Amino acid sequence: AKAGGRNGACFFDPSMQDAADRRAAFEAAMRDGLAQGQFRLFCQPQFDRVGGLVGAEVLIRWQRGREEVVGPDHFIGFAEESGLILPLGAYVLEESCRALARWQGEPALQHIKLGVNVSVHQMRDPAFPALVDGILDDTGAPPERLCLELTESVFADDPHEITRRMHELRARGVCFSLDDFGTGYSSLAYLKYFPLTELKIDRSFVRDVGTDPESAPIVEAIIALARTLGLKIVAEGVEHEAQRHFLIHGGCSSMQGFLLGRPQPIGDFENRYRAAGIG
Ligand code: C2E
Ligand code: CA
Ligand code: CA
Ligand code: CA
Repeated sequence: AKAGGRNGACFFDPSMQDAADRRAAFEAAMRDGLAQGQFRLFCQPQFDRVGGLVGAEVLIRWQRGREEVVGPDHFIGFAEESGLILPLGAYVLEESCRALARWQGEPALQHIKLGVNVSVHQMRDPAFPALVDGILDDTGAPPERLCLELTESVFADDPHEITRRMHELRARGVCFSLDDFGTGYSSLAYLKYFPLTELKIDRSFVRDVGTDPESAPIVEAIIALARTLGLKIVAEGVEHEAQRHFLIHGGCSSMQGFLLGRPQPIGDFENRYRAAGIG
């Protein structure tokens, strides 16, 4: 093997090899897991101001073993680096649209929206609009119930390409939500430029709303901005009654968080809210 790279450092550092092996093994395990149906959709409910169920966010989990459940923060990054995010993302979209189609005709579920997280790598794929279109056709899901959640990082890419893709999907009826709003670097002008339907206030702002005197006016300003631009607003990470109270009085149209409902397997979500309808 080649030894002694620049600075006299060993090029094939054995610990680096270990790390590379571990990464390769993790990726192979993810690939197998995807083939074996180990990735499962969880849903976290979203409610309006009076507690009516208006939607849910789809959150992926990897059921690696009977007891071992891996959260997305541990594998989405690897999936993006390895390209696995494309088949994984397609799987999430397809399962989400299947659920939307299944819920048609169910009084408590047929009007709700599903928020699906979409990686910048998926938006970069020129075939993405056709993929979504095909999934909508195949499943029979109502497109206007599908809300794709993007983070501000997508706007750092070629904005013309991204808007073109978004407009194609908007024409089909699909909605777009800007996730984690306020944490990225995007200019406010982007809010006008991109065809968005909804803003999600990041939970870092929601967290401090009752305690930090600076967060409250920021959240109020975001809500006012969204209203001016005709965007719906969802506050995420609502954990305390005081936060909910503040958001309702601030004019926030919907919210999600541990106070209102945890992410739960999609089957449990269906069974629970098909019976309840309201939270
Ligand atoms: P996100 O899109 O910001 O999702 C919200 C995260 O906040 C979820 O974490 C959710 O469980 C958590 N959460 C919800 N309510 C509360 C609360 O009241 N308090 C606190 N502390 N946390 C709350 P999760 O499920 O671990 O997902 C983490 C991230 O992984 C997501 O952040 C999203 O960026 C990504 N992700 C999840 N599913 C997918 C997917 O299917 N595709 C892609 N590309 N990314 C996904
Ligand atoms: Ca999200
Ligand atoms: Ca978020
Ligand atoms: Ca986040």
